[in-house]
Amino acid sequence: MDIYSGPVFDMARTQFHRIADHLEIPADARDRLLYPKRAVAVACPIHCDDGSLRVFQGFRVQHHLTLGPTKGGTRFALSVDIGEVAALAVWMSWKCALAGLPYGGAKGGVTVDPYALSPRELEALSRRYMQEMIPFVGPHTDVMAPDMGTNEQVMAWFMDTYSMYQGQTVTEIVTGKPVATGGTLGRREATGRGVAYLIERALERLDLPMTGATAIIQGFGNVGSVTAATLASRGARIIGVSDHTACWFDPRGLDVPALMRHVAATGKLAGFSNQMAFDPAELLAQPCDILVPAAVERVIDGAMAARLQCRVLAEAANGPTTPDADAVLEQRQEIFVIPDILCNAGGVIVSYFEWVQDLQQFFWDEAEVNDRLYRVLQRAFVQVMERAARDRISHRTAAMAIGVAKVRDAKDTRGLFP
Ligand code: NAD
Repeated sequence: MDIYSGPVFDMARTQFHRIADHLEIPADARDRLLYPKRAVAVACPIHCDDGSLRVFQGFRVQHHLTLGPTKGGTRFALSVDIGEVAALAVWMSWKCALAGLPYGGAKGGVTVDPYALSPRELEALSRRYMQEMIPFVGPHTDVMAPDMGTNEQVMAWFMDTYSMYQGQTVTEIVTGKPVATGGTLGRREATGRGVAYLIERALERLDLPMTGATAIIQGFGNVGSVTAATLASRGARIIGVSDHTACWFDPRGLDVPALMRHVAATGKLAGFSNQMAFDPAELLAQPCDILVPAAVERVIDGAMAARLQCRVLAEAANGPTTPDADAVLEQRQEIFVIPDILCNAGGVIVSYFEWVQDLQQFFWDEAEVNDRLYRVLQRAFVQVMERAARDRISHRTAAMAIGVAKVRDAKDTRGLFP
């Protein structure tokens, strides 16, 4: 299993073995739980606008087939390699199991800087990637969704490409599509809404009001911007935001609707203002009530964990906190951690609702989507809190222990195939 290398997969592996120790999973049962069932690497050639031909490398990893089809996002980023994609697929498995969804985890991606592509090149690459994946995916095999660097439009191209080859429209092949092409109301906002909902539950437990609470958000894409807007609409003050182009900080509070309009118009935070520029490396260490990493992995290492000055750490990104940082945070009981597989589960929960609606061709209104989303999140949150209190373990250990144990139990009941 040496192909799964790199710092992100190492992190997923370390986390898994900690949980396996906690659950007393025997050594010979561990590889089967940890290592992906299937991994595919593809070459995606496209014609670029300058007339050149370029080949991009794409991946898809399906972690386990034990509970149903696999499910997971597609990432377009320069960091994408087989190890990163596999780690994200593994985390998806624990996340889906924790939320009680009938899926194994998957993830895919293309090694590319999506911001450097023209809209036409992005469409060509999206269609080519899906075309290469057709033999490996299907509505009951593996269902894709958006992740970093992809969005509703990319999902529409995926769905259209798959449908062309089937000779009929197959909306249920991807989730996170535009509503006009079989998407569900509330999916675009689901991850950020879920993050904000869980932050409210955490603040309640800490007896802190949302009104006037200060928040810092790293990453201002789909998840970060919706989290910021939802927290602001509930009375929080957003004092810092960053993306890959800029970092803005103002203790008096930033104008979130204006930031969102700026990003909608320009695609980035850069250029919003020259007055409040801040060192992005220092953003996470600033005093605040709520800290939300909503961009990339491994931004909080042991040294940064020791410097955090927040009350709630809401892990909207996948894998923002390293195992070294976990060891520090376990000593810092004053920080309430909402671990990633719980914190950002709103996305896959509403993706599941979208898949169900597409399969039935029966669509729900947004209130029903949100109401069901909050019920699933509430159940998972309470389970994690109860398990952590009962076993005197961290929230991450509790969340992962619930997820891993569900997958292990299903594998034990079924046998060796899935
Ligand atoms: P996105 O592409 O919409 O936005 C990513 C944001 O992160 C952008 O603002 C980008 O500029 C910023 N960014 C990238 N590198 C950065 C860096 N080094 N420092 C600061 N900012 C940086 O992606 P998204 O869908 O919002 O995903 C963000 C995170 O949330 C990822 O970790 C993803 O895996 C996770 N996630 C997303 C969903 C979803 O539904 N989209 C669901 C669950 C988890």
